[in-house]
Amino acid sequence: MALIVQKYGGTSVADADRIRVVADHIARTRRSGNDVVVVVSAMGKTTDDLVRLADLVSSTQTPREMDMLLTAGERISMALLCMALADIGVPALSFTGSQAGIITDTDHQRAKIVEIKADRLTEAVRSKTVPVVAGFQGVSTAKNVTTLGRGGSDTTAVALASVLQADVCEIYTDVSGVFTADPRVVPSAKKIPAISFEEMLELASSGGRVLALRSVEFARNFNVPLHVRSSFTWEPGTWVGEEGVAMEQAVVSAVSHESHEVKITITKVPDHPGVAAAIFRAVADQGVNIDMIVQNTSVQGYTDISFTAPRSEMEAALSVTSKAAIGIGAESVSADQDIGRVSLVGAGMKTHPGVTAKVFETLAKLDINIEMISTSAIRISCVVREKDLERAVVALHEAFEL
Ligand code: ADP
Ligand code: ASP
Ligand code: MG
Repeated sequence: MALIVQKYGGTSVADADRIRVVADHIARTRRSGNDVVVVVSAMGKTTDDLVRLADLVSSTQTPREMDMLLTAGERISMALLCMALADIGVPALSFTGSQAGIITDTDHQRAKIVEIKADRLTEAVRSKTVPVVAGFQGVSTAKNVTTLGRGGSDTTAVALASVLQADVCEIYTDVSGVFTADPRVVPSAKKIPAISFEEMLELASSGGRVLALRSVEFARNFNVPLHVRSSFTWEPGTWVGEEGVAMEQAVVSAVSHESHEVKITITKVPDHPGVAAAIFRAVADQGVNIDMIVQNTSVQGYTDISFTAPRSEMEAALSVTSKAAIGIGAESVSADQDIGRVSLVGAGMKTHPGVTAKVFETLAKLDINIEMISTSAIRISCVVREKDLERAVVALHEAFEL
């Protein structure tokens, strides 16, 4: 008998029919002799709707109240799913993040899990009741309700699978697995049967939102096997696990893209030791996540520095960078939102020279200008104009025969 954590995303529980279908699948999993712990997201676009509602009501959105608001979405779906389960004779109990013992730090809207006191869940499983846990939320060490950042229900599921020592964490979504590119942009993208944690980390951090980045970090750190699959077809999906577990090392596995970033540029920065440290210490202290950094060669003792950050953090990044710029005597700070990032990920890249050149040639053929470049051992990313992004994704997918 196995213990399975099943996470259902927003589309999977979008309406009453979907909730009943999910309840049936949970019942079926139990009939096959497994114990199940369920994590749910808010129904459909509920979280987006709540964000819009907040915008209509006020421009003073303290992170604490935003968290209180957004956690309501998952409360609705967990209670409804428990009722649907009761209807078909499956005993189930809903738990908010707090009731499930998910303790986080106090960083509202992007809280990190610091501890899970899972005794109520363990007790439910022991008494053959299905715990249905609200995803994406916890309670802080200061006893406030927190959220784990958008897409955070994946993280809840993987964290629970880890502490409960589940045999597998199944992530049910609206696609049948992890594809060689976002199927919405590249309809010919193919499902990848198995992928390593390392590649999935790079994919998740470069825009492949099928799994939240934090959830993959958790899965890798605690070696939780993930199975990403569809709640519409229920067919076998993509296994995410340690490298070498029945995995071929493709040179390039997937193309990903990210269109929610901003490029901040600081001009005429005096070029001497300590300047970059001053800027990026200030940015880091604001909690802004930086992806790429480019610094030009200096001309007459001055240089330009650009970096990219999530668009949602633009205001914070701009204000802190502007202050730092004054402190170091730089000329100006500007933000460019019309950018997109395309990335190629593949574990085999490190042993195959020529991938980078081929990326540049492919983009050059389309007359797409590359504005920034960054690489890791198994990823290459280019910043391009946002209007060119989808063309770049499609062309690279084709060029590397994915
Ligand atoms: P959920 O609400 O179930 O968490 P998400 O919308 O967060 O679902 O994630 C699923 C979506 O991720 C898919 O609909 C797809 O458009 C997108 N996606 C982006 N890149 C990929 C990829 N490489 N493989 C599969 N899906 C991807
Ligand atoms: N409902 C939250 C969101 O839309 C969390 C999640 O779905 O994972 O971001
Ligand atoms: Mg998601």
